[in-house]
Amino acid sequence: MRSILLKSHLKTCLFVNGLNNFNAYSNSALRKNHTSQGPLTILSEDEQFFKETVRKFSQEQITPLIKKMDKEHKIDNELVKKLFENGFMAIEIDPEYGGSGSSFMSSTLTVEEIAKVDPSVSVLVDLQNTLGNNVLTKKGNEEQKVKYLPRLAQDTVSSFCLSEPSSGSDAFALKTVAKKDGDHYYINGTKMWISNSDIAGIFYVFANTDPSQGHKGVTCFIVEREQEGFSIAKKEDKLGMKASGTCVLHFDNVKVHKDNIVGKIGEGYKIAITFLNEGRIGIGAQMVGIAQGCLDHTIPYTLERKQFGTSIFDFQSMQHQIARAVTEVETARLLVYNTARLVDAGLPFIKEAAMAKYYASEVAGKVTSICIDWMGGVGFTTDFPQEKFYRDCKVGPIYEGTTNIQLNTIAKFIRKEYEK
Ligand SMILES: Cc1cc2nc3c(=O)[nH]c(=O)nc-3n(C[C@H](O)[C@H](O)[C@H](O)COP(=O)(O)OP(=O)(O)OC[C@H]3O[C@@H](n4cnc5c(N)ncnc54)[C@H](O)[C@@H]3O)c2cc1C
Repeated sequence: MRSILLKSHLKTCLFVNGLNNFNAYSNSALRKNHTSQGPLTILSEDEQFFKETVRKFSQEQITPLIKKMDKEHKIDNELVKKLFENGFMAIEIDPEYGGSGSSFMSSTLTVEEIAKVDPSVSVLVDLQNTLGNNVLTKKGNEEQKVKYLPRLAQDTVSSFCLSEPSSGSDAFALKTVAKKDGDHYYINGTKMWISNSDIAGIFYVFANTDPSQGHKGVTCFIVEREQEGFSIAKKEDKLGMKASGTCVLHFDNVKVHKDNIVGKIGEGYKIAITFLNEGRIGIGAQMVGIAQGCLDHTIPYTLERKQFGTSIFDFQSMQHQIARAVTEVETARLLVYNTARLVDAGLPFIKEAAMAKYYASEVAGKVTSICIDWMGGVGFTTDFPQEKFYRDCKVGPIYEGTTNIQLNTIAKFIRKEYEK
């Protein structure tokens, strides 16, 4: 039943957008298994289908818009529509609510493929799938799912609103409060760095319902864009990921009904931690995509560019650097894929997610930087894509938990494993 719905959903999407991938789809859609028991890089047919469809879509639909969107600091409206129409914004949402009902691994592959082309677009797709949709799918009650999941699958972007001006790494020191009055709560405070908030319609807002309880008072509310007292303020002018809107949000007595609490009162802390752990895998995938995309633009150049009468790839010192970079990207990819498969298998993955995010961010920084070196002078210009990959990946070690925070998490596990 599930696969038939998936088939019908994807068939419609692909038909609507004339992507002519129906053959690829037909070959894959009837296979139910989302997970592969073999080597990590061998994909199930469902996963392969996602990867191929997204790859083609990214090349055809995103590539022509990269420069314009980076310059205008905005993701093209028509592109957002197409991302929805093709099912890329609702990969794991159950077909019952209009999603594709696929796996976390498919979300991971989608993010990687899009990041190879435009990392800013991958922020949108990543956060929608690995954070926004999963919060409601896994923690929402039936009424909330019926009300919001079809919108999230069809046309509405969500934002995850945790960080504030004075609470970043120490996220649960947040100051936004939600005061109860009858069946409603009144939210007051300011959120900062909220991705996709320039275009989002649904906001998961973490606010403290009882500051005397510290992090145990943090509660997750659904707020809609049009609500009175809610305003989207400054859009940050960033180093990279420029097309991805990152804004400050103000909440001035925003009235929210108790039915819009996700999970229980005081459960916001657990919800945020749980989904950020999954989200980190998406950031890992994004960083792998960025590094790979940059290599894909650079290695052909090293083969073509001639100095001293031979291609620069022919120099052994260049070959060693290139071999090392490609190996590091593959290592990061394996960490990311393994962690995604742990999620799909319902196995513990927190340490692995921290490792994947930390390592993939580090590799993306190193690889995009050295790709610019290999390009020589032209790598330092905006005529070539390396400088954008380099700028875009700089946020990898910062958002969804900085590298130090990931290393803290890994170290906690190491201590537990070794302490007697
Ligand atoms: C482009 C972008 C998009 C973002 N999107 C979102 C979003 O959608 N939703 C959202 O809620 N947030 C978002 N964020 C916020 C992001 O998660 C925070 O920026 C991040 O958690 C770091 O917090 P901070 O900026 O306050 O840095 P700080 O916490 O002030 O950290 C500064 C430095 O101190 C180090 N440090 C802090 N504490 C420790 C410690 N205990 N041990 C060792 N070192 C430490 C950090 O590693 C870092 O190097 C986004 C940020 C950016 C830049």
